Amino acid sequence: MALTGLDIYKQLPKENCKECGLPTCLAFAMKVASGQVGLEECPRLTDDARGELDEASAPPQRLVTIGPDPDPVQIGQETVLFRHDEKFHHPPAVALTVSDSLDESALGDLCTEFKALEFTRVGETLRPTMVALINDSGSADTMSAAAQMLHSALSVPMVLLSDKIDALSAAATGPLSGARPLLMCTGEASADDLAALAKQAGAPICVAGDAETVADRVEALGKLEVKDVVISPGRTSTAEALQFLTQTRRAALKSKFRPLGCPVLVLADGDDKVAGMLDACAFVCKYAGVVVSNAWDGHLLVPILTTRQNIYTDPQKPVQVEPKLYEIGEVTPQSPLLVTTNFSLSYYSVEAEVETARIPCYILAVDTEGTSVLTGWAADKFNPETITNALTANNAGDKVEHHTVIIPGHVAVISASLAEESGWKVLVGPKEATGIGPYLKSDWNAL
Ligand code: SF4
Repeated sequence: MALTGLDIYKQLPKENCKECGLPTCLAFAMKVASGQVGLEECPRLTDDARGELDEASAPPQRLVTIGPDPDPVQIGQETVLFRHDEKFHHPPAVALTVSDSLDESALGDLCTEFKALEFTRVGETLRPTMVALINDSGSADTMSAAAQMLHSALSVPMVLLSDKIDALSAAATGPLSGARPLLMCTGEASADDLAALAKQAGAPICVAGDAETVADRVEALGKLEVKDVVISPGRTSTAEALQFLTQTRRAALKSKFRPLGCPVLVLADGDDKVAGMLDACAFVCKYAGVVVSNAWDGHLLVPILTTRQNIYTDPQKPVQVEPKLYEIGEVTPQSPLLVTTNFSLSYYSVEAEVETARIPCYILAVDTEGTSVLTGWAADKFNPETITNALTANNAGDKVEHHTVIIPGHVAVISASLAEESGWKVLVGPKEATGIGPYLKSDWNAL
């Protein structure tokens, strides 16, 4: 919970000595509350007061780092229940399951498959984040060997799941030493055992159970100086997992209940892969920090990654592309020129259709501050003047000999005024991007 200036002031020495560079302790407290200076600037603050302030000002949900430098994944430290209130900050890690019972050749094949799991959507590359290594063999040596192979081949963050604490310890302190894997003991283990494992491996720990059980376990680990903890409902029904996710997020953010202020790992790796994919999408929407999934097939993985991309964009900032003249394919001065806005979804819808049609085109993305065609037109940001300015600013007249633009069908109403303003010939294209291919092949080619 954010502390007020007055809360901070109560803990300060109140000596007004100015050593912090500010005239009074109250001025210092106000600056700290607004995040402009840190507590370390006051040399006279007692250790006790510093400890209390640090604890009280800690975020309601802990940030947990998993994986090796330089590209670890960070989860948690979310501040709202609903993304329209602000935004969600740390997208959940999607961890694909790998059994340590696979032989070397099968593991190698999976590594190759993992590297190939890359998908481009609205200009972003989507890929799974982690590997979840499951100790199906029951052998510590086998798990360590598999961990070694995956780590050398992929070097991505990992989750290790085993019912044997010795197997986790062997892999985390052996081949994964320094790689900060998330360690989840699915068997019986005391808080002392888990704390020893976390300290030995220098890695975060995942504890599972119902909300009450994990809260007790997190508190016990905290007393043993283990703070990097992820919590999990374990293997439960979809409804129970969603209940756990919402209950713990609410307890952390609304009730400031710190033992549940940890990111959550959920399992969506059942035998029914389609049901698992649907579960994973629901968990992404409702607060998961790590989703363990067996969606190795693209058609199962893409919906999960797409859901994550959609939920973790900032709802207050439209996703935009750079407003400019794009060249798609081997364009010539005779290539068609399509006009759209710089709203990512609009631009990439047009670009995808042009690529599918295999007809080289220019696409002019007009700066509408990331709004779509109709919204930009309604807000007077996509009009004859802005389109003409964009044509001029991008020297379109020098690149395109025919001086003809194709505008979206939804704004056919501006065609005459655009022709007058720009001096270009204006053609009205299809209303929907899906009509671009047929339009280019028939109407444009017929010109
Ligand atoms: S250094 Fe500390 S005691 Fe001195 S004025 Fe600043 S806040 Fe107050």
